[in-house]
Amino acid sequence: MMAGEQKRQLDLIGPWKFQYQVPKARRSWFRSQQVRAFHRSATATAMANAMVGLLFCFAAMLDGSFLAASLIGGATLTISLARYARRKNYLGREHSIKTDLMEYRWIVRHCVLAGLAWGLTFGLLLVADPAHLLFIMLALPGMMFTGSLSIDCVYRAAVSYIVLLCLGSIAGLLWIGTPEAHVSVAITVYYGILFTWRANLSSSGFAARVHSQIESKEATETVHLLLNDYEEHSADWLWEIDDRRAIVKPSSRFRSVAKAKGEHLSGMDFLDLFDAGHDRAVLERLIDKAQSFREVNVKLTLDGEERWWALSGHPTLDASGKMSGMRGVASDVSAAKHAEAKISHLARYDGLTNLPNRMLFLETLTRALSRRKEGAAIAVLYLDLDHFKAINDTLGHAVGDQVLKVAAERIENCLGLHDTVARQGGDEFAVLLPEITNDGDADVVASAIIAIMAEPIIIDDQQVNTGASIGIAFAPQDATQALDLIKSADLALYHSKQNGRGRASHFEFGMHEAMQAKRKVEIDLRSAIVRDELELFYQPLINLDTGETSGYEALLRWNHPVDGMIMPAVFIPVAEDTGLIVPLGEWVIRNALAEVARWPQHLSVSVNLSPAQMRSPNLVPTVIHALAASGVPAHRLEMEITETVLMHDSEANLAVLHQLRSLGVRIALDDFGTGYSSLNYLRSFPFDKIKIDRCFVNDVDSRDDSRAIIRAVTGLAQSLGMITTAEGVEREDQLDHLRGEGCTEVQGYYFAKPLPASNVTGRLVEAADEPPAITKVKPQAKAKKAA
Ligand code: C2E
Ligand code: CA
Ligand code: CA
Repeated sequence: MMAGEQKRQLDLIGPWKFQYQVPKARRSWFRSQQVRAFHRSATATAMANAMVGLLFCFAAMLDGSFLAASLIGGATLTISLARYARRKNYLGREHSIKTDLMEYRWIVRHCVLAGLAWGLTFGLLLVADPAHLLFIMLALPGMMFTGSLSIDCVYRAAVSYIVLLCLGSIAGLLWIGTPEAHVSVAITVYYGILFTWRANLSSSGFAARVHSQIESKEATETVHLLLNDYEEHSADWLWEIDDRRAIVKPSSRFRSVAKAKGEHLSGMDFLDLFDAGHDRAVLERLIDKAQSFREVNVKLTLDGEERWWALSGHPTLDASGKMSGMRGVASDVSAAKHAEAKISHLARYDGLTNLPNRMLFLETLTRALSRRKEGAAIAVLYLDLDHFKAINDTLGHAVGDQVLKVAAERIENCLGLHDTVARQGGDEFAVLLPEITNDGDADVVASAIIAIMAEPIIIDDQQVNTGASIGIAFAPQDATQALDLIKSADLALYHSKQNGRGRASHFEFGMHEAMQAKRKVEIDLRSAIVRDELELFYQPLINLDTGETSGYEALLRWNHPVDGMIMPAVFIPVAEDTGLIVPLGEWVIRNALAEVARWPQHLSVSVNLSPAQMRSPNLVPTVIHALAASGVPAHRLEMEITETVLMHDSEANLAVLHQLRSLGVRIALDDFGTGYSSLNYLRSFPFDKIKIDRCFVNDVDSRDDSRAIIRAVTGLAQSLGMITTAEGVEREDQLDHLRGEGCTEVQGYYFAKPLPASNVTGRLVEAADEPPAITKVKPQAKAKKAA
C-alpha cells in the first residue's frame, strides 16, 4: 500500500473525528452502504431491545409500577417495530442518492428518539424509586453496548444514542442525590466516554472496510474499462467462468463471435461451446484442475462451419483466496488451423490422386505392424503400371495423369474397408492389407487389381492400354519392419516385371541375393572400361542371295577378373538401369569402327543401341567422331534399335534416327516380333533392315503362325525396300523354311557363334584364300523367293 493511500485511510479512522474523510465523489455510495448495514442489523437489535424492554416491564410490575411498565413496554415496542418496518421497506427496493439521504436522516432521528426514550425511561425509573439504582447501573452498559454495536455504521446516530441514554440516566441519578448516586454519575460518564470511543473505533473500521470495497470495485471497473478497450482494439476477446464452469459476464465481442451458440452466453457451461473430442477433454482437465494454460486449441462448430479457438486462461481467486473460476483470452485461429491442415494434407497426400503418399503409407504400415496380433498376418502389395512411361511419352503427361487417377480409383475399388492404397510416386502404388487370414487373401486382391488394370482406359475417346505388375510381401514371415516389408514387396515387384509383367509374385529371400548380385555387377561394371575388361565379339551376317558374309554384329563381352566371361544378358540390363550403358555404348561404337577399319571394304559392322543411349546428346557426336577417327565410311556402320525406342520419346528418338541416317549410317530394327510388335512401326521410319526375332525362327518349322508372321514381315519389308534378317538360325531345316518365306539375310550358330576379333581376322584371311565355308547356303534360295 502506498504512503498517500495509507494517510487517507488514517484520516478516515482518526480516533476523534466525528465525520469520516470520505472523498466527495464516493460520499453517496458510502452513505448507501451505511444505511444498508444499519438495516441489516435491525432484526438482532429489535430483538435485543424487546428483551431488555420486557425485563424492565417485569421489574416495574414487581414494584407495582404499572405506569412505568406500560411506558417502557410502549417505548420498546414502538422503537423495535418502527425499526423493523423501516428495514423491510428499505431493503426491498432500489434507491437513489436522495432516498438514501432521507433514510440516513431517518436513522439519525430514529436513534436520537431511541436514546431519548431510553434515557427518559432510565431517568424516570430512578426518580420513581432510588432502589432501581443497582438495576439501572447494571442495564446501562448493556444497553449502550447493544446500541453502539448495531448502529456504529452511522457514527452520528450511535453517539446521539449513547449521549442521550447517559444524560437521561445522569439526570435521574442527580435527582436522587445520594453519595451512591454521585459515584454512579461518575461511572455513567466513564461508560459514556468508553462507548463513544468504541463506537468511533468500530465505525472507523466499518468505514475502512467500505473504503477498500470501493477501491476494489473501482479497480475492477478500471480493469473492465481497460479490457473493453483491449477487446475493441484486438482480434482477441476475454472470457470468464465461475467455479462451476458457467460463463460469467460475457463481453460484447465474445457474445458476437459466439452468437451462433445462443444470444445469452451468460450462465452457459463454457465447455458446451466446443465440439466433443480430445482437445475439449484437455481443456476440461485444465479447468477442473484450475491450472493456468496458454494457447490451447479447441474446435467448435459455428453456423455449421468448423472453427478453431486458441484459449489462454488462469484461475481467479475470491477475497478469501479460494478459486472462484477462470479468466482468459481467446482468439479465432481457424485460418491458421485450416492452412496448417492443408499443409499437413499436402505433406501426407498425393496431390494428383488424393491417395495417401509414401510418408503416410509408411506411418499407417508402421502402426498396423505395431498393432498386429500374435498369429495375424499383414500383406503389402507393391505395384506399378505397365508401359506407363511409354503412355506418358507418347500420349502426353495430361493423359498420363488421367491414367494414374483411374488406376487409383480402380485399385481402391478392389480393396476392403480397412485396406489402404497409397501412391508411392511415379506410377508406383502400395497397398496395405492389415487383416489377412492367409496368403491367398493377398493373391485374390492382387488378381482383382491385375484384372481390372488390364481393361482399357478410355480418356478423351482414346483407348489407353496398361496393366499392373505386383510384388507381395508378408509380415511377419518376410519382414517385421515397415521399410523392410516395402522393400521386400518392391523386390518381388521387380521379379514380376522381369518375368513378363501383368503378374504378381510373392517375395522370396533369394530375391535379396539376386538384388545384391545386381548391385555387385553395378559396382564392378563402373570400373570395367577403365580396367579394359570389355571385349567385342563378332557374329557374321550371311546374305542368302550370295551366300557370303555381308558383315558382322558386334556383341559385347565382359572378361571379369574373378567371375570370368560375363554375357550381356547379365550386365546390359544393369548398365541400362544405371545409365552406365551410355559410356559403354560409346566404347562399343569406337571399338567396333576401329575393328571394321581393318576389314575388307564390303564388310559392315552392326552395333546395338539401347533406348538410354538414344536419349544421350553425345550419341551423334560420338558416331561422327568415331567414323572420322576410323576413316570408315558411314554406310559400313549399321545401328540396331528395338521397338521400345519407338515407344519411348518417339518424336525425339525419330529425330536422332534421322540424324544418323543423314550421316549415311544404316538403321536396323532389332528383335522384331517381341514386345509390342506392330507392323506400324515399320512404317514409322525408313529402316534399312528388319531383324526377325529368334523366337519365330526357332519354331518356323513347327508352327504355322510363326511362319505366317515371318511371311507378313518379309512381304511388307520387301515392298518397303528393306532387308529381312532372321536371327538365331541353328539348323539347316530352319534355314530352308526361312529362305522359303523370303528372308534375305540370316545369322545364327548354324553359321558361326560370336567370335573374338582375332578369330574374325583369321576367318577373313581364310576366306580370301578359298571359297567361304558358308557355301552351305543353297543357291535355290533366290529361285524359290522369286517364285
Ligand atoms: P541381340 O541383339 O539379339 O543379339 C543377338 C544375340 O543372339 C547374341 O547374344 C547372340 O550371341 C545370340 N545368338 C546368335 N545366334 C544365335 C543362335 O543361333 N542361337 C542362339 N540361341 N542365340 C544366338 P548375346 O551376345 O548374348 O547378346 C544378347 C543381347 O545383348 C543382344 O541381343 C543385345 O540386345 C545385347 N547386346 C549385346 N551387345 C550389346 C552392345 O554392345 N550394346 C547394347 N546396347 N546391347 C548389346
Ligand atoms: Ca542385335
Ligand atoms: Ca536381335
